[in-house]
Amino acid sequence: MDEIDCAVIGGGVVGLAVARALALAGREVLVLESEGAIGTGTSSRNSEVIHAGIYYPQGSLKAKLCVEGKQLLYAYAAERGVPHQRCGKLIVATSPEQAGQLEAIQQKAAANGVDDLVLLTAQQAIAMEPQLHCVAALHSPSTGIVDSHALMLSLLGDLENAGGMLALKSPITRAECGDGAIVLAAEDGTVLRCRSVVNAAGLGAPALARRFEGLPPSSVPKEYFAKGNYFTLSGRAPFGRLVYPVPEPGGLGVHLTIDLGGQAKFGPDVQWVSSPGELVVDPSRGEGFYSEVRKYWPALPDGALIPGYAGMRPKISGPGEPAADFMIDGPASHGVPGLVNLFGIESPGLTSSLAIGQYVARLLAEA
Ligand SMILES: Cc1cc2nc3c(=O)[nH]c(=O)nc-3n(C[C@H](O)[C@H](O)[C@H](O)COP(=O)(O)OP(=O)(O)OC[C@H]3O[C@@H](n4cnc5c(N)ncnc54)[C@H](O)[C@@H]3O)c2cc1C
Repeated sequence: MDEIDCAVIGGGVVGLAVARALALAGREVLVLESEGAIGTGTSSRNSEVIHAGIYYPQGSLKAKLCVEGKQLLYAYAAERGVPHQRCGKLIVATSPEQAGQLEAIQQKAAANGVDDLVLLTAQQAIAMEPQLHCVAALHSPSTGIVDSHALMLSLLGDLENAGGMLALKSPITRAECGDGAIVLAAEDGTVLRCRSVVNAAGLGAPALARRFEGLPPSSVPKEYFAKGNYFTLSGRAPFGRLVYPVPEPGGLGVHLTIDLGGQAKFGPDVQWVSSPGELVVDPSRGEGFYSEVRKYWPALPDGALIPGYAGMRPKISGPGEPAADFMIDGPASHGVPGLVNLFGIESPGLTSSLAIGQYVARLLAEA
């Protein structure tokens, strides 16, 4: 039987960041990815926004790892030449009631250590973005965008430079957790004895963990899938910054993000589905986007929104429930030595990836 010190299941941005952190800490690391390339899951179907850390509950892992991860990511991207842009974001209130909520958002952000938000009058916001309609706004200067694929390639390069390895087309189907080792079984029958295992299988992480013999079933949450559809804008982006409405219960609202090529897209919306494979965008959902977008961009032309792509949120709380925090469980939580499970790593998982890597490496070092 082959042996390895540390196996990371999943070659998305989080698995790669975790593997890099472990390899830099001196561990022998192998990433096992079921597909034929890295980053083909949720990590390639998101908004590529470097979030500031504004909305998450104070003290949550999402708040802590987003704020830490943002700082780490800006520094890393600058050092490694990963394309990114600190373009900033406007949170826009389009009614007096919403304007009243901006101060509360500013205070919530400050409690998370995000103290650079600036309240703007409508005139100040429109001076920044002349096509905008709003009654007031909040400016977040530390929000940005990043090329997620370049980031993942860079993380993989670091991993390999530190002696780590990647095995593609290596779906893991089950594990046996015993004293002193976890034995992983791959679909082709290969078995691998590991001192540590990190389950970073994204949408598949809870289902996989249920096939870990020796892991208490009560330590695996039920999974839910919330699809996010995007519609791209034909023609030039009307704004140079990201534009978000004031959040409504259940989501961040239909917002505008831009990519590093200057292409604008709207979304993601929230569509609860039963299977993580349902990734086709239904063009009819675009109808609801027009009225939402026109609240802050009245000049949106008819017919300008084109079905784009969809991403799937790996949820561990269901429709109508408060959004769950990231669940990153080490031996102290579930009792299996050497195992860390990552569940519910939805947004801001990309922003948080480097901080999650350090967090997991610490959990395993303490074990
Ligand atoms: C619509 C949407 C928009 C988002 N926007 C943002 C944003 O703007 N900013 C931000 O910070 N975050 C954003 N996120 C969140 C971010 O995309 C995710 O948190 C992040 O990509 C999760 O990375 P991951 O590595 O955990 O998962 P994934 O990228 O899904 O990687 C998991 C990997 O595991 C592999 N795998 C699965 N099962 C197995 C198995 N049994 N054996 C081996 N390999 C396996 C998969 O093939 C996959 O490659 C968004 C998410 C969504 C859905």
